[in-house]
Amino acid sequence: MQRSFLAFLALPLLLACGSPGAGPDKTNTADTLATDTFKWEVDQFGDVRILRYQVPGWEQLSLQQKKLAYYLTMAGLSARDIIWDQNYRHNLTVRRALETIIKDYKGERSGAEWDAFMTYAKEIFFANGIHHHYGMDKFTPEFPRAYMDTLVAASGAKLPKEVVDILFDPAIDAKKVSLDKDKDLVLASAVNFYGDDVNAKEVDAFYTAMEVKGDTTPLSYGLNSKLVRGKDGKLMERTWKIGGMYGAALQESVKWLEQAMDVAENDQQRKAIKLLIEYYRTGDLKTWDDFNVAWVQDTAGTVDFIQGFVEVYNDPLGKRGSYESIVEVNDPIATKSMSVIQENAQWFEDHSPLLPEHKKKKVVGITYRFINAVGESGDAAPSTPIGVNLPNADWIRKDHGSKSISLGNIIDAYDKSSGQSSLKEFCYDQAEIDRAVKYGSLAGNLHTALHEVVGHASGQIEPGIGGPDATLKSYASTLEEGRADLVALYFMMDPKMVELGVMPSLDAGKAEYDGYIRNGLMVQLRRLKMGKQVEEAHMRNRQWVSAWVYEKGQPDSVIVKVERDGKTYFHIRDYDKLRTLFGDLLREVQRIKSQGDFQAGHDLVENYGVKVDPTLHAEILKRAENIKTAPYAGFIQPRLLPVTDANGNITDVKVEYPDDFVQQMLEYGEKYSFLPAVN
Ligand code: ZN
Repeated sequence: MQRSFLAFLALPLLLACGSPGAGPDKTNTADTLATDTFKWEVDQFGDVRILRYQVPGWEQLSLQQKKLAYYLTMAGLSARDIIWDQNYRHNLTVRRALETIIKDYKGERSGAEWDAFMTYAKEIFFANGIHHHYGMDKFTPEFPRAYMDTLVAASGAKLPKEVVDILFDPAIDAKKVSLDKDKDLVLASAVNFYGDDVNAKEVDAFYTAMEVKGDTTPLSYGLNSKLVRGKDGKLMERTWKIGGMYGAALQESVKWLEQAMDVAENDQQRKAIKLLIEYYRTGDLKTWDDFNVAWVQDTAGTVDFIQGFVEVYNDPLGKRGSYESIVEVNDPIATKSMSVIQENAQWFEDHSPLLPEHKKKKVVGITYRFINAVGESGDAAPSTPIGVNLPNADWIRKDHGSKSISLGNIIDAYDKSSGQSSLKEFCYDQAEIDRAVKYGSLAGNLHTALHEVVGHASGQIEPGIGGPDATLKSYASTLEEGRADLVALYFMMDPKMVELGVMPSLDAGKAEYDGYIRNGLMVQLRRLKMGKQVEEAHMRNRQWVSAWVYEKGQPDSVIVKVERDGKTYFHIRDYDKLRTLFGDLLREVQRIKSQGDFQAGHDLVENYGVKVDPTLHAEILKRAENIKTAPYAGFIQPRLLPVTDANGNITDVKVEYPDDFVQQMLEYGEKYSFLPAVN
């Protein structure tokens, strides 16, 4: 549950500031790559932009490291079908039909209907399915059903009528993940984690019965299976493993992982890969924990990876992991410039506004690195996180530590591809714009570092209280993300940051406050359709954090709402008082987590994080039309190409940067598709 995103308006400073020179030491790009002529943005459709990223430092890797990165990337791609099927049970059928139509349709390939069809197809490729990757709503085809029938018939695509019905009927499976508290979350969610007739109450009962009281190293129950009703009417897990559900894809993945094991950089890394293979073979969750412990202790290698059923955002009950793969190489220089925060983690904990009993006496095992992504797939592509903190199991984090990374080259690509139009539209005055331009990139990086390193690692739960997933249920994710944001916000205005030499002045902190409030109270509404409430965990937390401090600061006019020429602005008048309010809220949110206070967590999120002022919402949507940039972005992946000698031995691995999104999707569909349509 610990990952951060940098979709355009999520952290607008970093993206909108357009000052690629700022931020941590960017010598990571000081190599032979031509960054000036590189085409960062290559496509735009629906509400997304398609970007590309570079892999700086690739040529400096040894052949062994290149091979390792290549094998791991192939392992990741080989199982990419899984995310499609997890997202929705008909997704693979739909995707293959789209691929066939795009490849084989011989009729007119232009005009309004064809264009609408291609936009629809690209949206689905982007989302790994027929539901929006972030908003969770099912896509609406903007062309007639008869046209789809024509394309299917003329191309020979296999798309059963029953599935076409679903695509064109807005009422069926309308939402991938529903967090609407008035509904049964499992029944109301289209995601393919539960049998059609399984409800939330049954799922709760099933896993409550599995829990062992007092277990200090609990397994991640439900992480790697679909829960269905067996022939006897009782619930049973269909485990994702070789020989089980998704076995064919995992089998392919393991072939590559075995080769990766042979070229591992050290024994610890080899041990981790071996355990991952064993986990894919057995589906044993104890082996998954063993893998994570081995993986978190593998800190010496230059190449690293994330793979498996990891993040649980796509399950309304937060149990089942979505398949993802990220292969990465270290960026030692940028990491060094940020490690100072890591070295001072205990100072931050000691000086945080938490209640004394909720502070960690000893902050364990935080590592923080800026890495460069080499290849992403599954739930991590095309839309990608920009920061990740793993593993997710609380007890492993406590006993063995965790790894925090920022994806430096991805952040760089965002920076280089975006302009200042959002700032001009939503900033209160020129001073705010100037601060954002000057410090936005740095502030964003520091926020990420504080959020991941100090934020998620901070605080402790009171004895006898269960983990937040058990006590705070569907509010756990948004409360945890908000808590980590609050830690970051609190310290962004601490003179210690200047003293440590990571920011030149507290103006960088002010820029972060400006951006956070602007986004949380206003700009992010652009990502919601009219009439919708906020559901996504990160969007919720940005709103409840911002709305709470806005309300509590009203007696002192800490943040004022200004109407000017029919436009709303939020202007921060007192940064120090705002910092105090962030601290007050942090203390309260930590108390909620530490004591498992479900009611208080529920009230905070529901009262501040969910509801939307329709007048303001309409205004923001209208103003957003002035900005041409799409609110979401994702990436075309680099292509790794092995060079072989006469004996078939790999002598080098080259990196290519494809620039056609649809072509890449078709290529992936041809090369890396191993699952049947129905699983
Ligand atoms: Zn986080």
